[in-house]
Amino acid sequence: MSILIKDVLLDGRETHVYIEDNLIAELGAKREADVIIDGRGKACLPGLVNGHTHAAMVLLRSYADDMRLQEWLETKIWPLESKMTGEDIYWGTKLACLEMIKSGTTTFNDMYFFMEEAAKAVVDMGLRAVLSYGIADRFDESRAEAEMKVTEAFLRFVRSLRNRRVQAAVGPHAMYTVSAGTLETARSLAVEEGVKVHFHLAETEQEVKASQARYGKGPVRALDDMGFLGDWLVAAHCVWLDDRDARILGERGVSTIHNPTSNMKLAVGRAFPYQALRSAGVTMGLGTDGAASNNNLDMFEEMKLACLLQKFDTGEPTILPAGEAWRMATKGGAEALGLPTGRISVGKLADLILVDLKHPQLVPRHDLIALLAYAANGSVVDTVICDGRVLMREGHVEGETEILKGAQARAETLRER
Ligand SMILES: [Zn+2]
Repeated sequence: MSILIKDVLLDGRETHVYIEDNLIAELGAKREADVIIDGRGKACLPGLVNGHTHAAMVLLRSYADDMRLQEWLETKIWPLESKMTGEDIYWGTKLACLEMIKSGTTTFNDMYFFMEEAAKAVVDMGLRAVLSYGIADRFDESRAEAEMKVTEAFLRFVRSLRNRRVQAAVGPHAMYTVSAGTLETARSLAVEEGVKVHFHLAETEQEVKASQARYGKGPVRALDDMGFLGDWLVAAHCVWLDDRDARILGERGVSTIHNPTSNMKLAVGRAFPYQALRSAGVTMGLGTDGAASNNNLDMFEEMKLACLLQKFDTGEPTILPAGEAWRMATKGGAEALGLPTGRISVGKLADLILVDLKHPQLVPRHDLIALLAYAANGSVVDTVICDGRVLMREGHVEGETEILKGAQARAETLRER
């Protein structure tokens, strides 16, 4: 299967992009292809990488807002999540994938439960994903064993899929939900299997205090003592860090995912230490977090809020310029996940999007990247290709109506359960 996108704007000039199987095979040549896409009036860009999600949480979108984090989790989110079934996760993940496709995301890094169902949804929807079961032993040994069994079974399940778009990761939830013993088991399993560890790190001040009480030091130094930090680790949030923590993350090769909307909505009390992490050479991606704390999966909005939050927090408008936000949302996230995506060059995965240059948000065009980071939202996306397959053309995704209906029905029965 081959695709030619002809006469499309790429890096400021009109050219042709030729895709063979699932790779970008040639740039510039007008080749014969099975599918020809007219790129006139469109710009070709890498598909966005959502570095931290709980996809099926879209079913809880706008179910509970404007609440304190702990109360929000304990009285609203966790009770409803405890009633979720595999079928909910399947339809929720499908709805999330639909939203991601429509807003230009081609890869996401997900942590939730009933992940076999999530994987089936990803297979059906055509996106690329790194999926992990969220391990939470809550400091109970028998539970720890059961949680690791679920994780091992999920790793086996993903292997059995033999789908090049779906990869597994090991997902210990966070320091305040997972014991030191289970963190170590999770880490060694991931290293043995050659997969990533997906983790929540230093999201709130409460988490730092709990770590100090339990381990006598803050999260980063406590985890470093445990040998938990390494290039296998993809750590979401990373808000409550000091400069030394940032340097440690840099030295250990840890990747971080910034979630500005979720951090602001749940009022975590500080901004992501972008400058410290940047000077420490830490790989940084961007993520939306779950839709219950966002409330959408639009990576264009995430870029804008990342830029604005840094400027507001530091009083310095030159910090986190548009180009850096764009890199975080593409190459940065791809590097964090260890995937050859997030950029358009020969030999990379054919994960790309076309944006409509006639969309009002993209007119006039003084600087395309600035438009994408500050002016646009996901509605500028016209065409989406993932792994060499067209998932959306001229704004249309196959089976869209059924997905909306199916997800709506699951959300309604979930509330009544
Ligand atoms: Zn999260």
